Amino acid sequence: MIDLRPYQHGAIGNLRASIGAGNNRVLLQAATGAGKTIIACEMIRRATDKSKRVIFIAHRKEIINQTSGKLDAFGIDHGVIMASHGRVNNHAVQVASIQTLTRRDKPKADLVIIDECHLSVSASFKQIIEHYANATIIGLTATPIRLDGRGLGEIYGDIVQVVPMAQLISEGHLVKPRVFAPFTPDMRGIKKSKGDYNATQTAKLMDKKEITADIVKHWLGVHKSENSRKLQIHRKTIVFASSVEHSKNIVSEFMAIGISAKHLDANTPANERDQTLSEWRDGKFTVLSNMGLFIEGLDVPAASCCILARPTKSLTIYLQAVGRVMRPHETKTDCIILDCAGLTYEHGFVDDAREWTLNGKVKRAKDDVPAVHICEECFAAYSKAQHPNECPECGFETPTEQRETKHADVDMVELTKDVMAQIRAKRIKRLEVGKCKTLDDFIELGKLRGYKAGWAYIKWNERKAWLKSHGYDVPMEPTE
Ligand SMILES: [Zn+2]
Repeated sequence: MIDLRPYQHGAIGNLRASIGAGNNRVLLQAATGAGKTIIACEMIRRATDKSKRVIFIAHRKEIINQTSGKLDAFGIDHGVIMASHGRVNNHAVQVASIQTLTRRDKPKADLVIIDECHLSVSASFKQIIEHYANATIIGLTATPIRLDGRGLGEIYGDIVQVVPMAQLISEGHLVKPRVFAPFTPDMRGIKKSKGDYNATQTAKLMDKKEITADIVKHWLGVHKSENSRKLQIHRKTIVFASSVEHSKNIVSEFMAIGISAKHLDANTPANERDQTLSEWRDGKFTVLSNMGLFIEGLDVPAASCCILARPTKSLTIYLQAVGRVMRPHETKTDCIILDCAGLTYEHGFVDDAREWTLNGKVKRAKDDVPAVHICEECFAAYSKAQHPNECPECGFETPTEQRETKHADVDMVELTKDVMAQIRAKRIKRLEVGKCKTLDDFIELGKLRGYKAGWAYIKWNERKAWLKSHGYDVPMEPTE
């Protein structure tokens, strides 16, 4: 028995209505967290009830295993067509890897379900779609736009939207995103190629020492306010970088302040990638930075912070990246999006209402598009329509003239205990680990924070090692 959520029932109903109206290729848009595997299993179950043959096609091993596992759980007999972990039989339902399927005899099918179908314009998918010309084809995706920005109208004739993301959040199937946008890159003058910003120019713009330091500084800043609220100490964080070098530099920057971080990219050997991923999953290190790998499919629900450091014109990349940290998990009540790539400005809020089309355009009713407002105090990005009076994160909302008055007042106030504590807090804020340049700086920061004396020496040694490994000059030791 497959227990469906009400909107999942609704989506299957709408899909059937579309097929009934004569569309034999329909695209099902299901946001991350909408439960597209469950919906697919139910469609498969209904088809087999009518003695139809079904093939479910995906391009990644994880998806194939996950789908096969779900079908087993629902008692639906099936075969698996995959080079290494196949399950060869003649059942009416087959779960297939696209790579293996293109090289083998294709089983008969009345219903073909294609997962992550925004990729289904590749040559191998085209070949499969031609082969199953007489079958009903259903494409599943969270983002029905190709990575080059084009739509999927050349393959699909209709589109059914499962559920708005805002509803998934309000019903608890996804956690609420809290967005901070401390830095917005100036993309004027950056060339466009294949529907996106030129990769080399973008990387050059983003991969700068001061930007990388800023990213890490704001990540720490977010955690500082968290710790005062007694939440998690460090969020499991995924970084989307602009280039391999950029990603590695971000990792170094985190390491330099004592936050464990690792890098992965498409050239990382598969076994090393798996190893690193499972270490991250197990909490052996905090920050996983990548270039071009985990746009989709990375399923680590405990991850709760996403650093966007790759400007992109692609709404697909933006939504898929952010989707990696929105799944619910017992360790989290929300997720943080640290947008250092201007993506909230470029594409709107993650949970904005969007009407997807087959031509690559996304319709948003003018009234529904909230203007993005950035808080001057904490850099939270929020909708002024929803929060007209103050920042939902820090409560800040003060007109400029009032701030000037407040500033003037500071000189006049009595130096009470409270005021001293405020000044001290400000000083600690200013003197962050990332800004310590000498052993003395570390010692002073350690004192301010009430750490044991050894802390400064450990940090100082780490800093020297980092500087050395990056070919920088190591400052002279202070003499006693
Ligand atoms: Zn704020």
